[in-house]
Amino acid sequence: MADYISELIEHIKAKNPAQAKFVQAVEEVLPTLKPVMDKHPEYRKASILERITEPERVIMFRIPWEDDKGDYHVNRGFRVEMNSAIGPYKGGLRFHPTVDLGTLKFLAFEQVFKNALTTLPMGGGKGGSDFDPKGKSDAEVHRFCNGFMIELWRHLGPNTDVPAGDIGVGGREIGFLFGMYKRLKNEYTGVLTGKGINWGGSLSRPEATGYGVVYFAAEMLETRGETLEGKTCLVSASGNVAQYTTEKLLDLKAKVVTLSDSSGYIYDEEGIDREKLEFVMELKNVRRGRIKEYADKYKSAVYTSADSNLDYNPLWNHKADCAFPSATENEINKKDAENLIKNGVYVVSEGANMPTTRDGIDIYLENKILYGPGKAANAGGVAVSGLEMTQNSLRYSWPREEVEKKLYEIMKNIHRVAHETAVHYGMPGNYVAGANIAGFVKVADTMLDLGLYS
Ligand code: NDP
Repeated sequence: MADYISELIEHIKAKNPAQAKFVQAVEEVLPTLKPVMDKHPEYRKASILERITEPERVIMFRIPWEDDKGDYHVNRGFRVEMNSAIGPYKGGLRFHPTVDLGTLKFLAFEQVFKNALTTLPMGGGKGGSDFDPKGKSDAEVHRFCNGFMIELWRHLGPNTDVPAGDIGVGGREIGFLFGMYKRLKNEYTGVLTGKGINWGGSLSRPEATGYGVVYFAAEMLETRGETLEGKTCLVSASGNVAQYTTEKLLDLKAKVVTLSDSSGYIYDEEGIDREKLEFVMELKNVRRGRIKEYADKYKSAVYTSADSNLDYNPLWNHKADCAFPSATENEINKKDAENLIKNGVYVVSEGANMPTTRDGIDIYLENKILYGPGKAANAGGVAVSGLEMTQNSLRYSWPREEVEKKLYEIMKNIHRVAHETAVHYGMPGNYVAGANIAGFVKVADTMLDLGLYS
């Protein structure tokens, strides 16, 4: 079986040149499925691995838009509809200059397993554009979102494909996208999640990913009879996931000492309290400023600019107990992982998708730390998106306590299933294998049930 999987990976590499991140995601998942493939020869017979690594459909389009000066621009838009075995395609939209087909295929592939873990009926997809919202006016973002939806709307539907936000796509962008969809389709349906409360959004959706990441860390710690109280935590980024990770860590009496953006990071040895977090939320969500301003305002903090000449990120080189990478893929390399261990970190709960390189993951596993991979630890966001879809179908809104209780239960369940599956397959403590196998089996069994042409 190992030979079959290695040969398949080589085949996928050859078939997808210049899609390094997609290949990386496949190389992370497929080898961990060996025990389940050994046990279930029917999966190989039905070519499940070959089918699950190939998108059902890829939509690629151009987005012309006009800036405030009247100059014209063209960006590229995508939607990768990866797998619809267990439900409509579901996954975020990313607006960032690094977006390309390989990035979105990696994200869509991860999403398939993640969505299966939530237990909700959602297939996997991902989309976005190489448009950079940074430095653009609201009017420019509005025109771009209109242009994006003028093409994408025809591929979406509440029972077909339901996008959400991701990097560069927050409440503002979802509003513009939803407004254009509603107008073109002449329908008011739950076709996007992450919507505003007045127009079909779910309470606690903005908080869900960050809160879920912290719940996952708390569950991992509980297996060792510990809690987050008093733990020192490193958090990267300062966007949606980082903000609500920090908020929940404060609720659970942990101490957060770092935040960052792509220009640099702050280290605040006194800890980021609620007042400071409120400042960050206003800085990032309203003024759309840079994290450096935090150190200008709070003298307990030191700001360090990002330095692309370094082969490590100094943010991960501080004494701490826990790390919550919340920015982007491959933000922790092997050296960073070694630095984390050297500095006492023994809990890593991933808010970002695939933030650790494969050799970095090996360091975590060798050191037997509590490591929650993104597809399990950050599934709270898509879980509450699934709950938003349910509320839209019911034409009803649940109170905040109800959504939060459901989120908490879902995260506890994802942890339990990943933990138990790892034990069942003889790899106790290995949440990577546990999450991959548990998510895979649900999708694979459904693909068998629905037949080759589904
Ligand atoms: P936001 O756009 O709200 O924030 C992104 C943050 O990450 C910003 O601080 C940004 O800094 C930083 N960042 C992005 N790209 C880079 C980069 N190449 N180098 C350094 N810093 C970078 O996005 P989210 O918080 O929504 O998403 C963060 C991560 O969480 C992503 O990996 C996303 O896929 C993942 N995720 C998000 C979910 C959600 O519900 N939003 C759900 C599950 C996972 P700057 O402003 O300088 O670019």
